[in-house]
Amino acid sequence: MDRPAHLEQTIAETLEFEGIGLHSGAPVTMRLLPAPAGSGIVFRRTDLDNFEIPATGRNVAKVSYATSLMRQGVLISTTEHLLSALIGMGIDNVIVELDNLELPILDGSALPYVEAFLRAGIRTQRRRRETIRVLREVEVREGNKFIAVYPGSGYKIRYTIDFPAPIGREHTSIDLAAETYGAAIAPARTFGYKADEKRLRDMGLIRGAGPQNAIILGPRGPENGPLRFANEYVRHKILDLIGDLALAGRRIEGHVVAVRAGHAMHTALVQRLLKDRSAWELAHVPVKAAAEEEVETPAALSTPALIGA
Ligand SMILES: [Zn+2]
Repeated sequence: MDRPAHLEQTIAETLEFEGIGLHSGAPVTMRLLPAPAGSGIVFRRTDLDNFEIPATGRNVAKVSYATSLMRQGVLISTTEHLLSALIGMGIDNVIVELDNLELPILDGSALPYVEAFLRAGIRTQRRRRETIRVLREVEVREGNKFIAVYPGSGYKIRYTIDFPAPIGREHTSIDLAAETYGAAIAPARTFGYKADEKRLRDMGLIRGAGPQNAIILGPRGPENGPLRFANEYVRHKILDLIGDLALAGRRIEGHVVAVRAGHAMHTALVQRLLKDRSAWELAHVPVKAAAEEEVETPAALSTPALIGA
């Protein structure tokens, strides 16, 4: 079922998720509500008088292990997997209510979100979708880490990771315009090294982590069952990147290249891009495939007299 790519979308009905936060271990109930065209993605803490934090680069908090939003001292933590699923599935407007500080980790991937969106349905809205069209390159470099965005059609991502054994070096590319997100990216789970577990647990950073929501890596490979993809790790990094770049406020039209990057580098790119107003413009997504299915072209519009007028 093709939907017109030039119009904004929301979810067709309210969705509810329950779980625990990966980092805090805190129980949380999260509800996604359909939202009017033009409203974007807005988080709402129902445990704090419905305090709202829009998902924009302006509200990014400085946290290295997950992406968090903060406004007036109120925190919303680990937003990246949900935002990734929303951008990946072309959902522009939604209110995200949660009754605690961290989103549920679910199975460590974005697949539960994608499945829920498809079950509930996605509703087309009467407003032209805008993208952030990249006009010239913006790069962030830090030691041997690198991330950049370049002008180009569609939304393409090339990611290279270089982790200690047993992961090593992996790279892959994806063209999000090809509607591959749900099958190729969403199922990829987060991961962590068994060797780091005690240290991170003692620091209180992975109170909710376990084999049900993360790939646990021993010296020889994953300790909890088969991978969903041979290169699941780099696919998960792309999942995270899409979620972090969602904080630009709209889907990006351009080509992203990331090498050994992480949340801090991803969000640094968003902030540098947004700050440099000469590097991008807001552009309407062109009306094309949709025109054929929805609108009958009046005969007069296709007469030679009007071509080139
Ligand atoms: Zn992640």
